[in-house]
Amino acid sequence: MPHRHDAPSHNRAPIAPSASQLKQIVVPKFYKTFQCIGAECENHCCHDWTVTLDKDTYQKYKKHGDIKVRQIAQKHTSSCGQHSLNYRQIKMDKDGNCPFLDTDRLCYLHKYHGEEILPATCQIYPREDRLMGTDLVSSLSISCPEAARNILLDPSAMVLDLEPLSARQALPKFYLTGQIDDIETLRLFKDAAFAGLLAENTETVEGRLYNLGFLFRLTAQRLAQKEALRPLFTNFTQLIHDGKLNDLFAKTQPAQKAQEFVTQQLLGDGGFIRDNQAFTHYQQRAFKKVISKTQITQAADSNSPVAEGRLDLKDFYNSHCRQGFTSLVDSHGHAFINFFLHWVYSTPFDLTNADRLFARFAQFTLKFFYIRLICSLLADDEEHGALLVGVIHSISRRADHDTHLANEVYQRLQAGGMAQHEHFLGLIKV
Ligand code: SF4
Repeated sequence: MPHRHDAPSHNRAPIAPSASQLKQIVVPKFYKTFQCIGAECENHCCHDWTVTLDKDTYQKYKKHGDIKVRQIAQKHTSSCGQHSLNYRQIKMDKDGNCPFLDTDRLCYLHKYHGEEILPATCQIYPREDRLMGTDLVSSLSISCPEAARNILLDPSAMVLDLEPLSARQALPKFYLTGQIDDIETLRLFKDAAFAGLLAENTETVEGRLYNLGFLFRLTAQRLAQKEALRPLFTNFTQLIHDGKLNDLFAKTQPAQKAQEFVTQQLLGDGGFIRDNQAFTHYQQRAFKKVISKTQITQAADSNSPVAEGRLDLKDFYNSHCRQGFTSLVDSHGHAFINFFLHWVYSTPFDLTNADRLFARFAQFTLKFFYIRLICSLLADDEEHGALLVGVIHSISRRADHDTHLANEVYQRLQAGGMAQHEHFLGLIKV
């Protein structure tokens, strides 16, 4: 089960950063306009998650004056080790809901006892405020449907404001920290990544993701050769301006074998998306379309979409997905670009290890591949904005918080000799 805010190698500090640590706060528009919609939420945040309690919170609940709080602490939590920060785990009910979720779909703890009593996980989510050098970078997890709506549907959602400290009444109570060796190089890397995604002479959504992938590839190569990174970013921006990356993308061949493998994984066992009701709902609807349009059949003894038969993806994509994807981009091209920008903006990339860096991009490409396939198949059935929010937030709820599963698909590709840089760049093009 995923842990919310599972950010490997990055810790959440439980005390607000001091003013002396900070120079400015970076606040995107999507962050400013966010408000939790509570009972109206279509995929409540405690659904299908693991929520842990630290030792103090657990003791507080066990001795609480409200008998319901005491009972839930005693009967609906289980031990998860001796670590005082992750001491007990709330046991979700058979429908995947938190025992504190009331019949009106509001949190009992929050409703009757206020925000202060909530476990840290619930006080924070979906906020992801990260200390990066002297900046506090504010963000939201795209796995919350309301956050996803804010990020994806507003073309200007990714406009960033730099707030001086004096403009802030209060700093966040919790924030993410992590070892970043060279903040300035990371900043330059991100600037180059934004330039690739926003390149005026790149016309397609896929071309923009290719630009980003090429930056990851060049950076990983330099890291492997122990060469300085900063000169690369200037060269990269020049490549974009000269239209060289567009030419390369035009010449790139689809990585057909890898695409078919990844599609079979998605249809077979959800790839890295399992135990996620919201995503499974989209996946199964898309799978029915695949069945109705191809020779592929559903395995007789399975309730899940396990495919039998070979899928010629190129043929299938051209006949059944290309038109759907084109219509999605026509109506919501900005949603895809914001999805990419949000990922770059929010991720503290590790620029010290070539393999780890490229694996990050590979996992994001896999996620995009799944999103494109499913949304293209369902584009005729649902309002495009709602479809993109539904698919992107639900796939993110699993994929972003449990990298172990994404690694599994990545490793299977590696085992099949399909995890070279070329394969992932070739996954983008169908
Ligand atoms: S998922 Fe987001 S909108 Fe829904 S209840 Fe949680 S924080 Fe609120």
